[in-house]
Amino acid sequence: MRRLDLRTVQAARGNTIRDINRQIVLNYVREREPISRAEIARVTELQRSTVSAIVEDLTSEGLIEEIGAGESTGGRRPTLLRLRTAEAIAIGVSITPTRTTIATSDLAGRVIDQTEFLTDSDPERTLTPVIEVLKQFCEANKGSIEAVGVSLPGLVDPSTGNALYIPYFKWRDVPVAELISKAVGLPSVIDNDANSIALAELWFGRPEVNHARDFILVLVAEGVGTGIIFDGQVYRGERGAAGEFGHMIVGTKAPVPCSCGNLDCWEAFSSERSAIARYVQLIGQPARQDITFREVVDRALGGEAEANWALVETARFLGIGISNLIVGFSPEAVVVGGEIARAWSLIEPALTETIRHSIRRGLPSARILPSTLGENPTLRGALSLVLARKFAAAFAA
Ligand SMILES: [Zn+2]
Repeated sequence: MRRLDLRTVQAARGNTIRDINRQIVLNYVREREPISRAEIARVTELQRSTVSAIVEDLTSEGLIEEIGAGESTGGRRPTLLRLRTAEAIAIGVSITPTRTTIATSDLAGRVIDQTEFLTDSDPERTLTPVIEVLKQFCEANKGSIEAVGVSLPGLVDPSTGNALYIPYFKWRDVPVAELISKAVGLPSVIDNDANSIALAELWFGRPEVNHARDFILVLVAEGVGTGIIFDGQVYRGERGAAGEFGHMIVGTKAPVPCSCGNLDCWEAFSSERSAIARYVQLIGQPARQDITFREVVDRALGGEAEANWALVETARFLGIGISNLIVGFSPEAVVVGGEIARAWSLIEPALTETIRHSIRRGLPSARILPSTLGENPTLRGALSLVLARKFAAAFAA
């Protein structure tokens, strides 16, 4: 599912080409809505009449809609177009080690209905209530839902739809997509959390990110995962297993064991769990081990020195791993996602200082940016698994 670079694509002429032009027009509406037919014709260099015919098709298929007149630039005021938002077309299921969130969204990725519950370590006891909610959402939306996207915190095979190994729960070979598709009668797409969020950044992220052809998303959560966008698409490697940088060795004695059991992995130094362990150790209250990462971030933002130190120390190790990725991949940008992005003002100095130190002279560095996907990036990721497919359909490899 390659994402088009609208800056370099020339409007196409010829047969199949109508489809490509359709995708170009749809993507312009998506990225620049509200936009007029004349503006689309100007930026794509397509004929006015071609644009009008495509807009008519896309409107009758329910993908875009008119929203009244815009500013006049002299003549008649142009009618503006935007993505159709009348109904829910996608369901996203974000399964994390702690919470499972399920939501419907419209074509533009705006969440319409949302529900969540605690994730159970038993796959059946998590997937059964997921399927119940999916059935309710499908029923309530009377046939408008087109597909379900599922984000999982572990190793998955998107081509078969199987969860291969979810370390937190020791799930092995669970046919998640098949179970869901059979139960609700809709196509179902799965991917791991970091890849899903990387896809969401590519399609719905801020311009510096979604216009980059090569970037890496680093998800800091219970573990640390990476999603690699290479030439405008998710780089997967063999059986979707690429991006397991959480297990690269960055030290010797981490504050917590990695999900793989070792004490030298990047994840063991840079995850939310490692920050909590640092904090609990510093305040000398082992009884506070149940404190959440959100609480540590809140305390740091509220000015508590110990919480601040725990985050800064975690950011230092996060920076070591990111430096290794920059040296190896030379991406245009690295995006940091997860709750830790909320404390960006506190961690950015330590992060950039570590990276500046370790990038060798003469080698290019990359921009380090916090994710802007909001409160629940894995949910946005799960929805993107469906929505990005729809926008990219004509270019599927
Ligand atoms: Zn590990």
